[in-house]
Amino acid sequence: MAVDKKPTVLTVEDDDAIRALIGGVLSLECNMLSEGTGSSALASAAVHIPDLVLLDVGLPDMDGFEVCRRFKANPILQDIPIIFLTSRSSTTDEIDGLEAGGIDYITKPINPAILRARVRNHLELKKSRDMLARMARLDGLTGVANRRTFDDLLLREWRRQLRTGQTLAVIMVDVDHFKQFNDTYGHGAGDACLKEVVKAAEGSLQRPADLLARYGGEEFVALLPDTSLEGGIAVAEGIRAAVAALEIPHAGSKAASHVTVSLGVASMVPHPDREPSFLLEAADGQLYEAKASGRNRFKGINIPPT
Ligand code: GH3
Ligand code: MG
Ligand code: MG
Ligand code: MG
Repeated sequence: MAVDKKPTVLTVEDDDAIRALIGGVLSLECNMLSEGTGSSALASAAVHIPDLVLLDVGLPDMDGFEVCRRFKANPILQDIPIIFLTSRSSTTDEIDGLEAGGIDYITKPINPAILRARVRNHLELKKSRDMLARMARLDGLTGVANRRTFDDLLLREWRRQLRTGQTLAVIMVDVDHFKQFNDTYGHGAGDACLKEVVKAAEGSLQRPADLLARYGGEEFVALLPDTSLEGGIAVAEGIRAAVAALEIPHAGSKAASHVTVSLGVASMVPHPDREPSFLLEAADGQLYEAKASGRNRFKGINIPPT
């Protein structure tokens, strides 16, 4: 849910009068979607990914508990909070609803003030949860993926490409003489420099599936699915040139008069006897070679099938 956008609420209710009532209560502060059956609700949610669902229990095609269980079984929908709306007020219904994965329970006839207050509360909680989840996956300084996200995606791509037999490439990127940059210009300038380097590197990625992550300190890593060594080298040279073109002065560098990066590229078809770390270590080895042979350059290796 974007911070400045109205949240989207999906009402699943087969009674037109109740739908109209809910719309009247919430439409000023929420974008309202509505569906009259469980199956159309699941289809609509998969397209619109609402921030909250108000779910009637008595629906024509399946009961609300079943709809809720299907939301919770779907990885794309499972984090959407569901509030049950029902005229049934027995304790067992309430327990059924909560056990099916509902977050709250509102009984009919609907009291507009209670509906509004509960919806607001759950939307606030959802916003905080979304924000925490985002922060846990991104690097705070540069805004790109963090190491944890990278490790997850590398493993996922590795497994996927074990099945497809395609080549996977990674590029390790390390800023040259960065300790000296901090020593010369200060840590604040160092931080600003890292942000610029990230923007330049991200702009050099060519496909939607390519990912740039902060690996740690002044080291970044690019994950390039379905990419050969040649493709990886083209991207690495693009990143190198884009960072050099920033022309950020770096008086203390022995590699150039401006900020530069060294890069190590490695590619391979994932093999069941290997771990993804094998590919990363190979890229790291190439990065070491690039450093040793003068910096502001890349080295690359394709690991042949064993
Ligand atoms: P090399 O060319 O061999 O890579 O030399 P280097 O100085 O870049 O490498 P070294 O590993 O010695 O130093 C890395 C420096 O990166 C040291 C550390 O202070 C700095 N650094 C790491 N993370 C940050 C950060 O978030 N902000 C700033 N400003 N500096 C950072
Ligand atoms: Mg009903
Ligand atoms: Mg380093
Ligand atoms: Mg460095």
